[in-house]
Amino acid sequence: MTNPAPPSLLSLTVAPAQVLRGVPALAQSGDAIASLGHRPLIVGGNHTLATLSPQLQPILKQPSLNCATASYSPDCSEVSLASLKEAATCHQADLIIGVGGGKALDTAKLLAHQCHLPVVTIPTSAATCAAWTALSNIYSNEGAFLYDVSLNRCPDLLILDYSLIETAPQRTLVAGIGDALAKWYEASVSSGDSAQTLIIAAVQQARVLRDILFQKSADALKTPGSEVWREVVDASVLLAGVIGGLGGAQCRTVAAHAVHNGLTHLPGSHSALHGEKVAYGILVQLRLEEMVQGNQLAASARQQLLKFYREIGLPQTLDDLGLGNITLAQLRQGADIACQPQSDIHRLPFDVTPEQLMAAMVSTTTLVEKNCSPVLSTAMNEKYE
Ligand SMILES: [Zn+2]
Repeated sequence: MTNPAPPSLLSLTVAPAQVLRGVPALAQSGDAIASLGHRPLIVGGNHTLATLSPQLQPILKQPSLNCATASYSPDCSEVSLASLKEAATCHQADLIIGVGGGKALDTAKLLAHQCHLPVVTIPTSAATCAAWTALSNIYSNEGAFLYDVSLNRCPDLLILDYSLIETAPQRTLVAGIGDALAKWYEASVSSGDSAQTLIIAAVQQARVLRDILFQKSADALKTPGSEVWREVVDASVLLAGVIGGLGGAQCRTVAAHAVHNGLTHLPGSHSALHGEKVAYGILVQLRLEEMVQGNQLAASARQQLLKFYREIGLPQTLDDLGLGNITLAQLRQGADIACQPQSDIHRLPFDVTPEQLMAAMVSTTTLVEKNCSPVLSTAMNEKYE
């Protein structure tokens, strides 16, 4: 697959200006926050703002900060952003602080971008790398993915407090592992042949990230709060963000996220987390490479992932995602959306039709077909080794 010519002007948003990490990072963050602004608007979900109020006291009680809070409910949507803009104006906010999961942080980042204000991200789970990246995903009020927005910089300050992450359900870290794994399977397809230094670096970091997750995830999940658990949190929240930052616009998502985006349009999918849908999407992407290209290496990569998913509890099928009872028409709807002309699924090096995608979506756990013709280029060997 040929890569587009590098743009004459490269604008990279590699990393947050500052990362404060550890325990108790939040309690010690007052000065760093006050250096960015004195009238922060704290944006989070209703539940997060209510339940986290003891942990947020170091910020709320900081004498130099005059805080207000606002909910991003019902979703990271255009409607929520409009009402948050009013809240920011009303409070005369000079700083936005996002607290919560990916959607809360995406909302806070985009709000800050639109209001030309600095932004602090405080992730409360390791479910995505949203605390790091210069990107926000916009959803409908009903939670269907609509589009993403590139921001002009990464957050000004990221506060990764492990004690906060540890209070999140274990399932969120499992989902974060799924989302982070996708970096390798997608970046190696979209950018694996690139000759550009920074893209090569991003793809190789994605491979390192995958290997760290393969090696450490099972132990991490058995020992929340431990050293190995922190390493896996760092992998999902920080290193996954580095790859997006280094790779930039050319190191984009491919079919795994396109499948996720299609699934979000099915109401039944909303009980599954972003990273759970993406993890399933990786299996669908590999299955497409198997079915359409006859790629046996994709088949063995899929078997390797199925074993890993079983070990740590990632979903393997539509049934696992709570979508076992969807109709053929609904499956078709999800596949049609994933195959729309602007979808990243078309970054695969072959054409994909909704019919092929539907066939892949219902066969993620099928055994390897022995008679498929092998495609053994060096690049592919490297890709799946
Ligand atoms: Zn993702």
